[in-house]
Amino acid sequence: MTIFPANIGSFSKPVRVLWEKMNPCTLCPRQCEVYRGRGQTGFCGIGDFPLVSSVGPHFGEESVLVGSGGSGTIFFAGCNLGCVFCQNYDISHKRAGRKMTVEKLAQAMLGLQDYGCSNINCVTPTHVAVAIAAAIELARKEGLKLPTVYNTGGYDSVETLRLLEGFVDIYMPDMKYSDSKVTEELSEAPDYPQVNFAAVKEMHRQVGDLKVKNGLATRGLLIRHLVLPENLAGSFDVIDFLAEQISPRTTINVMNQYRPCYKASSHPNINRRPTYEEIESACQYAIEKGLNVLD
Ligand code: SF4
Repeated sequence: MTIFPANIGSFSKPVRVLWEKMNPCTLCPRQCEVYRGRGQTGFCGIGDFPLVSSVGPHFGEESVLVGSGGSGTIFFAGCNLGCVFCQNYDISHKRAGRKMTVEKLAQAMLGLQDYGCSNINCVTPTHVAVAIAAAIELARKEGLKLPTVYNTGGYDSVETLRLLEGFVDIYMPDMKYSDSKVTEELSEAPDYPQVNFAAVKEMHRQVGDLKVKNGLATRGLLIRHLVLPENLAGSFDVIDFLAEQISPRTTINVMNQYRPCYKASSHPNINRRPTYEEIESACQYAIEKGLNVLD
């Protein structure tokens, strides 16, 4: 059994190249080089088939993604980051989900469209980019018109992102940190800041600033930045980077909902919620820099 409904040769070249990049796997900066097509797994813990945890309309996303029908979310199990404070650890680390072929994934996307959702929101997509691109290709042939959202932790390689050009309408990456020492301790990814900054540049090159029509995002870049206690998220550096190296009109959601989860209790610096002052200072700084800060 294969994740593809027919011969891989019937898909476009970018999908075929993505498949090759999965065998051995160099899809993300971990570069595990395992043969996922033979069922081997690397850091993300996922073989060739994507594991889908849930599919359905979601009303808790940013308002520009929700509209009246909700954001059509597809939550993928597994993750290429190892955040000790993971807010979705049952899905990302315990890998709760069911296997889906590309054909089933495409049907799920079309089902979300039929249901009236505002977009197709692929959550934690990086390690399953092959299946997502192939499913979008198939679904578009069968009538998918909704914008597609790449809702990523932001640890993405530029090479893989280039292959996704045209498949993704809205990139919604996290920008989690700006300091490699923090990233090593909290997410097992010391190169996260440079990888993430390069990825965001490539995403912006492809889709530009966020465009909104009738209250709904249609295309562009939407940054998520979760404020951590003690400025461990490096909020001011992240905001400077966006304003000075991406675009002063970048749209950002400065998120205030951090709470200690998963293994956060073993890291005293993050074993509390950020204070009102910590959150407000990050928000105010983004506003002062002219960014488009979502409410
Ligand atoms: S996608 Fe998974 S297996 Fe591939 S390089 Fe990244 S973590 Fe490793």
